[in-house]
Amino acid sequence: MSAQNIEKHEFKAEIKQLLDIVIHSLYTEKEIFIRELISNASDALEKLRHLQITEKDIHDDNLDLEINITTDDKANTITIQDFGIGLTRDELVENLGTIAHSGSKQFLEALKAGGEKNADLIGQFGVGFYSAFMVAKDVKVYTHSWKKDEPGHLWTSDGVGAYEIEEVEGQRRGAKIVISLADDYKQYAKGDTVKEIIKRYSSFVQFPINLNGEKVNTIDAIWLRSKSEIKDEEYTEFYKFQANAFDEPHYRLHFSADAPLDIKALLFTPKTNPEKMGFGRIDPGVALHCRKVLIDAKPDELLPEWLRYLKGVIDSADLPLNISRETMQDNGLTGKISRVITKRYLKFLKEEAKKRPEQYAEFFKNFGIYLKEGVATDFTYRDDLAKLLYFESSVTEKGKTTSLADYVSRMKDEQKEIYYILGQNRESIESGPYLEGFKSRGLEVLFLYEPIDEYVMNNLGQFEEKQLTSADQGDLKLDDAPKPEGEALSDDDAKALCEWLKTAIGDRVKEVKVSSRLVNSPVMALSPDAMSSQMRRMMRQMGQDSSAMPLEVLFEINPRHALIKNLNTQRSANEDLAKLVAQQAFDNALVAAGLLEDPKDMVTRMYQILEQAATK
Ligand code: ADP
Repeated sequence: MSAQNIEKHEFKAEIKQLLDIVIHSLYTEKEIFIRELISNASDALEKLRHLQITEKDIHDDNLDLEINITTDDKANTITIQDFGIGLTRDELVENLGTIAHSGSKQFLEALKAGGEKNADLIGQFGVGFYSAFMVAKDVKVYTHSWKKDEPGHLWTSDGVGAYEIEEVEGQRRGAKIVISLADDYKQYAKGDTVKEIIKRYSSFVQFPINLNGEKVNTIDAIWLRSKSEIKDEEYTEFYKFQANAFDEPHYRLHFSADAPLDIKALLFTPKTNPEKMGFGRIDPGVALHCRKVLIDAKPDELLPEWLRYLKGVIDSADLPLNISRETMQDNGLTGKISRVITKRYLKFLKEEAKKRPEQYAEFFKNFGIYLKEGVATDFTYRDDLAKLLYFESSVTEKGKTTSLADYVSRMKDEQKEIYYILGQNRESIESGPYLEGFKSRGLEVLFLYEPIDEYVMNNLGQFEEKQLTSADQGDLKLDDAPKPEGEALSDDDAKALCEWLKTAIGDRVKEVKVSSRLVNSPVMALSPDAMSSQMRRMMRQMGQDSSAMPLEVLFEINPRHALIKNLNTQRSANEDLAKLVAQQAFDNALVAAGLLEDPKDMVTRMYQILEQAATK
């Protein structure tokens, strides 16, 4: 080839950034570059296998679908070759010169989110092709696309700032990646070392891997074997391979069904939740196979979205072999598969929750959010999912949780509703004004700590025909409780005080009345419309201004409380001070309800009150 045929390109800025991080700081285990390149080779072969169903004119159509790796410890090179789809010139520029693909994008975001302390999780995304530059002096990619009329190309780079592309003749289909190893990494030119690494990371690859002419993997479809023959370690190895994980799964479910469909499934629930660590939305991770053949590694619409955290494999012999990703969605079978798998998994979780509650609690802490998402968005499984929700409550110990079904089993005969309170944490709920009315009546209340929980309860509406009811709801009907101790204001005084309070607080309050629920606290704020107060809390949680949302507040006072009795005296003795106190008590109640918008006025007013208190 003549020199003018060589095109020189600069890497895009974000690739330079990525390369810099990958080469200089990230991985302690440099050997994973082998796993990454094998995984790319396997993807390319998989894509070719799909093309063979639809395309007639494929370059080098007689080549076997396999991966060939050769090492040369004299020249210090390692070569990884596949007979997959290969790349055209434009694809070389697009795929190896920019960050067009999701893995590396997520990787960069993850680094921004958590830096190197997230290194283990970052490994799960892989940085694919660029990992070769961790060990390379330079990398050459010889390639020929599956398209017959395209020429072959050589892509070369030392990973610093630029790469070159030139046309080369005589290329076979696929990609051949030749890595000239840097001096510190000569061990990767040794067959024995590389064999170990392939066994460690890639033994489940579904195409033959030949190392220096010898086949090194077994192409075992572990999910098709019978459970009793599979050792725990084999499952874990497969999980690590399939999920790119470094640890063991939290749960494993391996099952088969014959009717109504022939299905084998091996599902893993991971230990950690990348979304919770700030890694962005995860892609579905359960691959769909038909008799070992991969149909789709990340089928978007197979399982419900809220199950996107699952890893593993589903294999159905009933799928037509020539099904493609595109036709999958039109195929009623996938809907049936989805239902069988989802039902079975939910049943499994229910059993686990019973059999091993502590392990389940751990799972729920990390992945409960997905079950809640399911309750709120997926009507089909709502009832089954509701049975899997666990919360702390006024009768559990701190840190221990209860299911809704267990709550119902403890309900008193006359109790018709399931009560819940949203609060920052257990302490703030227990010290707030809402719980006491329930406590004095011996009613259990669920403690919700996240705004989404309230949303979920609202969406669910009821459980086993019992209404789910927020404890800060204004029109709550509670039975009479034994009268709390202490002398109360007379009914007339209390009524007059309520009227005075309504004027003193002004527009911010809709109604003031004597409480039948308060025992120890002086006041509380209730909401006539649970939805609007819930919306406000959610908006605030998301950092949005919720002041434009209409808010109606009912204000209840405890006629036995010293503050209320004193306030009643003060309103004639020192009305200005009494007004300040009234406003302040109202704001305190809003704080307890999680509804105070802006504490600015409250602080100023507090100083005015303190000023007067200090002069006494
Ligand atoms: P990822 O595999 O996460 O998409 P990579 O950086 O490993 O990211 O690869 C980028 C893209 O380059 C791939 O998506 C694929 O389109 C292309 N590619 C990589 N290796 C090969 C290969 N061996 N054969 C064909 N295309 C490849």
